[in-house]
Amino acid sequence: MSVSKDQFTMQDPTRQYPQPPFARQPQPAPGLAKKMTPAPDHGEQSYKGFGRLAGRRALITGADSGIGRAVAIAFAREGADIALNYLPSEEADAREVVGLLERDGHKTVALPGDVADEAFCSQLIDHSVKLLGGLDILVNVAGKQTYVDDIADLSTKQFEETFRTNVFAMFWLCKAALPHLPPGATIINTTSIQSYQPSPGLLDYASTKAAITAFTHALAKQVIGKGVRVNAVAPGPVWTPLQPSGGQPQEKVEKFGSEVPMKRPGQPAELAPVYVLLASQESSFVTGEVYGVTGGNHLP
Ligand code: NAD
Ligand code: MG
Repeated sequence: MSVSKDQFTMQDPTRQYPQPPFARQPQPAPGLAKKMTPAPDHGEQSYKGFGRLAGRRALITGADSGIGRAVAIAFAREGADIALNYLPSEEADAREVVGLLERDGHKTVALPGDVADEAFCSQLIDHSVKLLGGLDILVNVAGKQTYVDDIADLSTKQFEETFRTNVFAMFWLCKAALPHLPPGATIINTTSIQSYQPSPGLLDYASTKAAITAFTHALAKQVIGKGVRVNAVAPGPVWTPLQPSGGQPQEKVEKFGSEVPMKRPGQPAELAPVYVLLASQESSFVTGEVYGVTGGNHLP
């Protein structure tokens, strides 16, 4: 893979990263970044920080792989202390992130567990506050996506699990975090282009992403009086284990990203700078906003 020297090196973005076709690569959900070909770029070699989050304490869900891992690397290099959440079955991916951050001397706390469980969400906030000494940034990245062609085959169990993971967890975590968040704190949710241009085979998932968008707009208005900003990022197709582990059928994995004007999927490293901007004081007048990072299939 061609990896830029840092995120500022000028180059043609259409040629910056691999384009389809990709090999079929099924794996069970939640997928592991370790098993992907080509390997995703989370900014391990490229992300350069400038202290934009110095002294901040951040909890990131889904931080073992994909977008969450890229956000964890970027936030740490911008000076934040990090609590990472992920599922216990993803320990192999999580070890890679924790190892990388600890090697560079960043304070990193690993808090595995299932955010689809309300009691765990409240514990996750309590442990983050205790172990980091407070909380300034909550980043909801954890998500479940399972492609099903026909509504007749979409089970109530899947529909409910997708909503619990993508929507209920965000609600529980925001609710538990808010009493701890000081003025200047930020919440960043992860919605999707699917919130605006839903695919027919992602009925449950796209609906959760539309709910996340509306929740972000409403919560932002509700809590700005406390000095807390709430925004969301809406990625287009991104090369992460979510997709080959059931998020898309394998024939769509082969041509993943070909549908956007850039003709390639984004890499997690290309999402992280937007999360950094929304977390930092630089975006002080931005709240209730959804920032698209889509490769050209813009938000409406
Ligand atoms: P990913 O598989 O690397 O990350 C998703 C993470 O969610 C997993 O690593 C896992 O730790 C976490 N997760 C899932 N269920 C969980 C549970 N019950 N408890 C705790 N953690 C759980 O894939 P990604 O693409 O980086 O996904 C991150 C976010 O980005 C998701 O919200 C996804 O919907 C969103 N997104 C992804 C794309 C894309 O094309 N990859 C596009 C738009 C939005
Ligand atoms: Mg993962």
